[in-house]
Amino acid sequence: MSTPPTLDRVAIATLKGVGPKMAEKLASLSIRSVQDFLFHLPLRYQDRTRITPIGALQPGMDAVIEGDVKAADIVFGRRRSLVCRLQDGTGTVTLRFFHFSAAQKQNLTQGTRLRCYGEARRGASGLEFYHPEYQAVDPGQPLNIETSLTPIYPSTEGLSQLGWRKLNQQALQLLQPNTLIEWLPDIPTINGQQIRLEQALLYLHQPPTDAPTQLLREGEHPYQQRLAFEELLAHNLSLLKLRQQTQQQGAPSFTDGDQLSQQFIEQLGFTLTSAQQRVVTEINNDLQQRKPMLRLVQGDVGSGKTVVAALAAIKALASGYQVALMAPTEILAEQHFNNFCQWLQPLGISLGWLTGKVKGKQRSQQLTAIAEHQTQMIIGTHALFQDEVQFAKLGLVIIDEQHRFGVHQRLALKEKARQEVGHPHQLIMTATPIPRTLAMSAYADLDTSVIDELPPGRTPINTVVIDNGRRAQVIERIRSACSEQRQAYWVCTLIEESETLAAQAAEDSCELLTAALPDLKVGLIHGRMKADQKVAVMEAFKTHQLDVLVATTVIEVGVDVPNASLMIIENAERLGLAQLHQLRGRVGRGSTASHCVLMYQSPLGQLGKQRLQTMRASSDGFVIAEKDLALRGPGELLGTRQTGLMQLRIADLERDSHLLEQVQATAEQLLRQHPEAIDPLIKRWLADSEQYAQV
Ligand code: ADP
Ligand code: MG
Repeated sequence: MSTPPTLDRVAIATLKGVGPKMAEKLASLSIRSVQDFLFHLPLRYQDRTRITPIGALQPGMDAVIEGDVKAADIVFGRRRSLVCRLQDGTGTVTLRFFHFSAAQKQNLTQGTRLRCYGEARRGASGLEFYHPEYQAVDPGQPLNIETSLTPIYPSTEGLSQLGWRKLNQQALQLLQPNTLIEWLPDIPTINGQQIRLEQALLYLHQPPTDAPTQLLREGEHPYQQRLAFEELLAHNLSLLKLRQQTQQQGAPSFTDGDQLSQQFIEQLGFTLTSAQQRVVTEINNDLQQRKPMLRLVQGDVGSGKTVVAALAAIKALASGYQVALMAPTEILAEQHFNNFCQWLQPLGISLGWLTGKVKGKQRSQQLTAIAEHQTQMIIGTHALFQDEVQFAKLGLVIIDEQHRFGVHQRLALKEKARQEVGHPHQLIMTATPIPRTLAMSAYADLDTSVIDELPPGRTPINTVVIDNGRRAQVIERIRSACSEQRQAYWVCTLIEESETLAAQAAEDSCELLTAALPDLKVGLIHGRMKADQKVAVMEAFKTHQLDVLVATTVIEVGVDVPNASLMIIENAERLGLAQLHQLRGRVGRGSTASHCVLMYQSPLGQLGKQRLQTMRASSDGFVIAEKDLALRGPGELLGTRQTGLMQLRIADLERDSHLLEQVQATAEQLLRQHPEAIDPLIKRWLADSEQYAQV
C-alpha cells in the first residue's frame, strides 16, 4: 500500500479550480501547498443555521437575514453604489454594493424574497450590509442544512468566501492523520485534553454548529490554543536557531583589562551598585568565551548602563580590539562621545566620532583611522554600519537604546557584522524594559541582564497630571524651581512624526515662555537644528547658562543633566507610556526632589485617562511597560510592526502568555533531541516572513 504524500509536498494547484491565475493569487498570501492552505485560518465564523429578524440585528453581528426587496436604486454619493432596502416584519436594512452589474440591479425587483449573509454595520442609513452574499429564495424555503458554522477567511481581491469554502472542502478531504506531520515530541495538552494537529485544523475550519462561539471569537478555544502553541513555538525556534548559528561562529576571547578597569573605576568618583557589578561580571564572563556574546542589558532610565558599557569596552580595548558604540540619535551619540573621551582618554585610548553629518575630508580621515586601527573606539549613529566603514579589528559592538532600532535592524546589523567585520561580541542596552512575555518571544536569541537598582541618593519623582488650560500655574512652577537654582525641561509633542511641525510647536512654546519668564534664560532644541547648534544648546543647558530647555522629543534618550528637577510635557496624552517614562527619567538624577508635570488636552478619553494615571501611580519602568503592552500591543512597543517579525496568525502574545513557558521548554527539547523538526516547523508557520529569510 502506498502512503499518500504529506500535504506540505502537495502543490495547491492540484486542487480542482486552482489554475495558474488562482495559484498566483494564493501565492501572494504565501499559500503554495495544501498544508499552507490549511494553515490559513478563519478570521471568524457565521452561524447560518438560523435566521435573525432584521429588528434584532446589532452592529457587528454576523447574521443570516431574510426579507423582501422594497427598492433597489443606484445612488450617486461620494462613491456610486447600488442600494437595496430589504424588510421583514420586524424592520428594514440596507444592502450596499459598490461593485455591481446592471443585471444585478434588475434582479432585485420589488417584492423579491432574498436571503442574505453578512455583517451588520452602522452606515449612512442605519444598519447596512456591505457586499453581502445573497440569494433569491421562495418564501418559506427551508434553510440549507448547514452542518457547521461558516468560516470567514482573510481573503484577497478576486477570491470570494464561497471560493475559499469550496477549496477548503477539497483540502480537508486530504487531511488525514498521516498527511500532516506532527513534529512535536509530545501531543500538547490544553485544558487537560490532548489535541492532535489535524483534529484542531479540522475543527477550526468547520466548527460544529453547537461550538462555543464566545471562546472561538476570543481565540481561547482549546483547538485554537493548540495551534497558537505551535505558532509561538515556531517563532521561538527561529530565534533560537539564529542564536545557535551566531554562536557557531568564533569570536575573540578577551581576558585582559583588569588593571585598566580598576583604574577606570577609581577615577569615577562613585562605586558601582551591586546590580551594575553583577551585570559587569556576566558580561566579562561572556567576553572570555570564544563565541560571540549576544547580551541585552535592561536597566531603567538612570540605572547607569553607560558605565557598564564602558567596562565592557575596556575589556575589548585592552585585548587589542576595536569597539563600536552606536546610538540612535546624534545628540545621544555626542553625549556618549563626550563621556567616553573623559573616561578613556586618560587611559590612553584614542576615540573617533562618525555620524551621517560628518562629511568630506573629516569623514575620509575618520574612515582611514578606523580602517588602520588608529581609532580604537568609535562612537556614532547607524552611519557606523554603512558599507564604507571598514574596521581593522572590531571586537565588540555596543548598541544603546535598542528599541529605537527595531529587531529588523538588529538582524541586519548581525548580518553586516558577519560579512564585513568578522564576528564581534554584541552588547545591547535598553532603557525600555521589555515585558517578560515579549522577552521570551521576540528576544529569545539574546541573553539578558537586568540592572534592577538605581544608584543611591536618587529621590523619587513626583508626577502630576494637569489640563493644558492651567498653563499659567505650570509656568509658576518653573519660576519657583528656577529661583532655587534648578533647571527645567519643557517638551512639546506632536501627533505626527513631522520634525518641521514639531520644531514650529517648540519655537512657539519657547516664545511664550520667554515672554512669561523674562528673568530666566530659555533655550530651544529640536531636530531641525544643525548638529553643532544642538550640541551648543545642550552644552549651555548642562553648564547652567540656560534655565529652561524647550525641546521636541529629541531629548528623550540619554541626556544627563542632574541639576534639572522639573519636567513638563505638553500634550502628554499623545505619547506612549514607555516614551513618557523615558522623558520623565531625564529628571530625578540629582539629590533634590524632582517633579514631572504631564499636561493634557481635554477632553481626555477613558484610555487616555488610564494611561496618564498609570504614569502618576508608578515610577517602575517594568510596571509601565507591562501596562503599555496591554494598552497598545506588542508591535508598537517593539517597533516591529513593519518588519513582520511578530505578525502572528493565531497566537496573541498577551492572551497566550501562559503558554510561553511550555513553548520555551518544548523549543529547547526539540533543539536537543529532535533537530530535524525545527526547519519544517519554522517553514510551516513563518515560510515567507522576513525573519525566516534571515535564518
Ligand atoms: P542610563 O542607564 O539611563 O543610561 P546613565 O548611564 O546615563 O543611565 O547614568 C545616569 C547617571 O548616573 C550618570 O550621571 C552616571 O554617571 C550616574 N551613575 C551611574 N552609575 C552610578 C553609581 N553607581 N553611583 C552613582 N552615580 C552613578
Ligand atoms: Mg543611557
